[in-house]
Order: sequence, then C-alpha cells, then structure tokens
Amino acid sequence: MVKKSINIPIVTPSTVGLITTTQCTAACKDCCFGCNQRNHEAMDYNMIINTLDKVVKSFPDIKLIVLTGGECFLLGEDILANIIRHINKLGLKSRIVTNGFWASSFKKAYKTILNLRECGLTEINVSTGDEHLKWVSLDNIINIIVAAVKNKIPISINIESSVSKFFMSRDLLEDYRIQKFIDSGLIYIVNGHWVSASKTDDSITKRDSKHISSGNTLRCTSIFSSPSILPNGSIIACCGLTSQDHESLILGNVLTSDLSCIFEKSIYDFIKLWIYTDGPYSLLEYCNKVDPHLPNIDKGLHICEYCKFLYTNDDYFSTLKKYYRYKIPSLIGKYEILTKRIKSINQKI
Ligand code: SF4
Ligand code: SF4
Repeated sequence: MVKKSINIPIVTPSTVGLITTTQCTAACKDCCFGCNQRNHEAMDYNMIINTLDKVVKSFPDIKLIVLTGGECFLLGEDILANIIRHINKLGLKSRIVTNGFWASSFKKAYKTILNLRECGLTEINVSTGDEHLKWVSLDNIINIIVAAVKNKIPISINIESSVSKFFMSRDLLEDYRIQKFIDSGLIYIVNGHWVSASKTDDSITKRDSKHISSGNTLRCTSIFSSPSILPNGSIIACCGLTSQDHESLILGNVLTSDLSCIFEKSIYDFIKLWIYTDGPYSLLEYCNKVDPHLPNIDKGLHICEYCKFLYTNDDYFSTLKKYYRYKIPSLIGKYEILTKRIKSINQKI
C-alpha cells in the first residue's frame, strides 16, 4: 500500500527507544517483549554509540532517548553511565526503564542514581505489579523512588494494570516510606495496561471489556514519533505493546540502511499513516462499515491489541487493501494538519 506519487511531509521522531538487550533478571508472564534470563541478544557499546550518532544526524526533532530492554542495567553500570554521558553530550534527554533489581538497599540506589544523574540522566521509569513482584521486591522500588526524589530526578512508576491484578497504585501510594515524598512533584504513577502476550490469543470480539484504557479508540501517538530499535538493528515503527508481534511494523535496519531514507519511505505506507491520524480501531471500524459481514469489535481493548489484530487477521487486512484508496484524500489532509501542529509543539518544547 505504497503511494509515492503524493508529496507529503515526513514525521520524524522526538523519542527513540533502544531495546538494549532482551535479557532480563525477571521473566514476567506476558512480558510484551518476551524477555527472560535466558535471552542473550544485546547491543554492544559501539553499536549503541553509533546508533545514537545516526539518530541525531537523521532526526531533527529528536529530544529523548529511552534505554530499555529487557533490563538495561545488565549492560553493566559503567557502560550505562558512558552511554548516558554520550546522550547528554549530544544535547538529548535520557530515560532508563528498569525493574529495579539492582536497588537492593537505599545506599546502593542513591549512589547509582547520583552517578547516573551526574552523567546527565534526566528520567527514571521503574515497573512493578503482580508479575514484577515475583522477581523484584517492593523494597527495591521504594529505594529507587526515595533515591530519585532525593537526587531531584523525576520518576515514573509503571504499575501493571488489568481487572485481574491484585497490586494496585493505591498499595504504593499508601506505603508509609514514600508518604513525605508524594507531593515532591517528581513522582508519577502510571497504570500501565497489561495485556496477554499470547501469540495465539487473536480474538478481539469476545473479551471482557470491563476496563477500557482511555484513548484506545483514538489516534496512535507512538507510530513514527517514538520508534524502537532492537539489538539486531531492526527499527520498529513505535514502542507499542504488540509492536514485536507482527513484522509489518518493522521499517528497516539501522545497521544496513540510512535512517532518514527508512522514515521517508515508511510514511508512504498508507495503513501506518492512517494509524497515525486515526488509530487502529478506526481502521477496523471502517472495515466493519464497508463489509457488514465482519464481526463487531470489542471497544474495551488496548490500542495495540487492535493494531495486532488488524495486521494479523486476513479478513480485515484484505478488506482494507480493497477499500483503503477511498480514504486517501481525507486522510492526507488530516495528516498534513496534524504534522504541522505537532512540529510547532515540538519546536516550543
Ligand atoms: S521486568 Fe520488564 S522486561 Fe523484564 S520480564 Fe518483566 S516485563 Fe519483561
Ligand atoms: S497502536 Fe500499533 S503502531 Fe501504535 S503503538 Fe500500538 S502497536 Fe505501535
């Protein structure tokens, strides 16, 4: 579905996520990237530095680099510190995403965060919840929260959330050890929707829809704006939960192709452009409109579950292929307005 005869502006990323390793100290059931202790795919230091240099050269709007995994601390603390130093030297912000396994005492957490802050670290994102707590104690999470606040680093705590989870944000908020830091303005609690990573669970018509994650039927703000790069160099169009479940979101490879060219080419994929302007739910809804025989879609799922379904269900995808061209004029107009608006916001940040 490539339409190169129309000239449209290119969205360039403001955030890039480096999936530095697929190895993790944990092995959470339903980890969206399938990470565990046995995985050994990892970027080496030179690949990370070269990739960062290419990102800065190719993406004029880039602001933030997210170091994630798996568990990015498995790269080694000194290497992580050097990478953050390099990001800082390039004039970018940096965020680490971690399960907190390394923060076994407050002293250790404080020393580590102080060192990374001095290298230029600007944000920490730590994950916890029912699955994570089987591998990493809540004490570690508390150590990181307190150490981050004392180092004046903003910290987001991403809590696995779904109807079946026991540990909830209020359990953390009520913990006496963080009470006096809650109003610091540096602690953000995010209820991260936790979806089944099962490759066989492709039904999106029969699920329990009691918890609707807000924005799930709206446009995808991650595609093109926040791509991820895998240890093998593959560039995924977004940082979404199911982004590694279908190859359609792989845009190219940073080791073999020019980043700017990859993005210029990708924007002409009309399905991705449509996900960018209206979100995957809207595409499924359109299919239902043009072919009433297709089953209705549950409105209570995660936006990335719609995306996976769209790309992996032959009935819906072939319907799209057949009818997408009728949407081109209105979507191109919408896309142009959106890119202009986002560019002007990016310039103000
Ligand atoms: S801690 Fe995070 S990366 Fe590691 S297995 Fe759990 S969800 Fe996956
Ligand atoms: S909706 Fe699709 S494109 Fe957007 S973040 Fe989710 S998987 Fe990625």
